[in-house]
Amino acid sequence: MTGGGALLEVRDLTVHHGQLQALSGVSLRVEAGEVYAIIGANGAGKSTLLRAIAGLHRPTSGSVLLDGADIARLRPEKRVAAGVVMVPEGRRLFPTLTVEENLQVGASYARPGPWNIGRIYELFGWMGGRRRQLAAQLSGGEQQSVAIGRALVANPRVLLLDELSLGLAPVVVRRIYETLPELLASGLTVLLVEQDVSQALRVAGRIHCLLEGRTTLQGPPGGLTAEAIEGAYFGLSGPPGGEPASGTVPSGTVPSGTAAPAAPEAAP
Ligand code: ATP
Repeated sequence: MTGGGALLEVRDLTVHHGQLQALSGVSLRVEAGEVYAIIGANGAGKSTLLRAIAGLHRPTSGSVLLDGADIARLRPEKRVAAGVVMVPEGRRLFPTLTVEENLQVGASYARPGPWNIGRIYELFGWMGGRRRQLAAQLSGGEQQSVAIGRALVANPRVLLLDELSLGLAPVVVRRIYETLPELLASGLTVLLVEQDVSQALRVAGRIHCLLEGRTTLQGPPGGLTAEAIEGAYFGLSGPPGGEPASGTVPSGTVPSGTAAPAAPEAAP
């Protein structure tokens, strides 16, 4: 592997939507086998980042490297074939296709690997028995599982998960996240966007906070104080990209569920 061990690297990525600069010089390195979480408030640029990595937004500048090779100019389906596969926000299944047909669509640009439709039915025990049901007839959680299955059958190297928990009951979200260890055990690397910060902190080896398109904080959850995360999330601790705050945070604020004394890794 090249690139100093990073399987996926984003260098100095800037993305515009028309006049709006949605991402400004964002860089990150995702190591093979880790879960890396992007957090941030609404409109922070999280989905734009994932979609730019997947090839759905053309960056203004910057690069995206997979195993050291620049994929920033590849079309989305070529990125899938290279191993970068996204579960989009809102699932985006084909509602008039069956469960199995949706999974077959995911296999269109599949790489060789451990995942196939039978294995998806093993991962989600309910799914095989309902393979002929239309996607539109499934609950939100079931649709999310099919969307994950559709991505997995492409045998990704890096799985991009955009707001898995959106619109789902916490118990359903928990059940879906319970599949993560099995995905990692199959050799996957996961880059996820999560609106539920507590959930991100539970599952991720490192988190990366965006605010108005800029990196405000990144590091392992255990090395970040709750106050630093809250400051980075809301922009309470000085200009984006600056040193995050440290200390403790009142309970009940958005980025709850963390507190550790070690100093965070400052944004680049
Ligand atoms: P959310 O949690 O609300 O999805 P986000 O952090 O994922 O937010 P993005 O969806 O990446 O943020 O949006 C970043 C900024 O870019 C926002 O100001 C948003 O309104 C804008 N934006 C996103 N997509 C488009 C688009 N296709 N055209 C124009 N502006 C866009």
